[in-house]
Amino acid sequence: SRAEEDFRRRTPQSADALTRASRVLPGGNTRSSLWTAPYPLSITGGEGCRITDADGHTYFDFLGEFTAGIYGHTCPSLEQAVTAAHRAGFGLSSHTPYEVALAEELAARFPSIDLLRFTNSGTEANLMALTAARLVTGRKRIVVFAGGYHGGVLTFGNGNAPVNVPFDFAVLPYNDAEAAAREFAASGDRIAAVLVEPMQGAGGCVVGSAEFLQTLRDLCDDSGAWLIFDEVQTARMAPGGAQERLGITPDMTTLGKIFGGGLAFGAFGGRQSVMARFDPAHPDPIPHAGTFNNNRLTMAAGLEAVRNHLTPEALAALYERGEAFRAALNERFAANGGAFHVTGMGSIMNIHGKGEDAALRLDRLRLLHFRMMERGYYFAARGLIALSFPVGETEMTGFLDALDAVLIAGR
Ligand code: PLP
Repeated sequence: SRAEEDFRRRTPQSADALTRASRVLPGGNTRSSLWTAPYPLSITGGEGCRITDADGHTYFDFLGEFTAGIYGHTCPSLEQAVTAAHRAGFGLSSHTPYEVALAEELAARFPSIDLLRFTNSGTEANLMALTAARLVTGRKRIVVFAGGYHGGVLTFGNGNAPVNVPFDFAVLPYNDAEAAAREFAASGDRIAAVLVEPMQGAGGCVVGSAEFLQTLRDLCDDSGAWLIFDEVQTARMAPGGAQERLGITPDMTTLGKIFGGGLAFGAFGGRQSVMARFDPAHPDPIPHAGTFNNNRLTMAAGLEAVRNHLTPEALAALYERGEAFRAALNERFAANGGAFHVTGMGSIMNIHGKGEDAALRLDRLRLLHFRMMERGYYFAARGLIALSFPVGETEMTGFLDALDAVLIAGR
């Protein structure tokens, strides 16, 4: 398309970067989700909510590292926390005061968490939660949902053949309480856990209905299965995550992304009785080791982030900003031909093409993505937008104005 040709003309250095990278990295990188045709933008630097590509173009960043980058790209207090931890000795073969303090903060926030453990990623956190559910319940079956994303080896999209770790998965339709009830009626006594995102993130920001999630809670209560909320993305919705907003307390919660203060992070936690098995002094302990589970730089950054950035006030304000922005986007789209709509919760949202024809919907979204980049606004090619703290009214107004211009020019 013309838009793609324009993109190629503007970004030759990104093309070159891919060519070089592909000689040593299949696909040119290490995160399949970054791939987008004809090649992903090579982003070489950032400051606050602005990023710069390899050809020197700057963009306002409305992607925010696929929701992990809530602090923007530079943050003096996080920098200082990491530097201080680094100077004090960063690999001490020991548990650390940072990790205890961060665990205290998270346990105090999440209704479902008495005890928790850290991992290096959300993927690992989910793998550990599922492992615990299987060992403690003595059952094998795990209920998950089509469109669910719980990590690279726990992907239940519609389309790509998922390569999943060998659990006995039942993949059910999301937001379908009746289908879940049928599954439990048929095999409730074999189900170890239900693993669910309160809002499917990678699945396109599909919000779980309160009725659906409450039904899962009830089915788990009746059958003895564990309800596991994957709050790797939704934790930012309130100090106690989406579960606080919903008033539903899962048996276990998995976390990731924002709580590492910009560094690699994951955590899983639950009730005292459930997590006790991870105590090595337990008569039948579940082993959970990992060299960098508690690495001091991450723990120090996470602690600084929780204490001084992820305050209840800041999270509430970000949520409201997101709600207002999504409403404004939907208004603009409706006023300009109605070819798109936006779903989401708080500061995380996804633009979708509208209409019957899936290929046409995707084409339109690609075109929008290219044209918005030309105007200096960056979000995921698949339509994901995640606001970060430094994205303010000026940037959001600018985004809406650019959108108007693109939509009017496209008519
Ligand atoms: N769960 C959800 C809901 C996610 O969005 C992600 C990552 O995008 C993960 C789990 C996996 O986390 P990580 O990429 O840290 O392994």
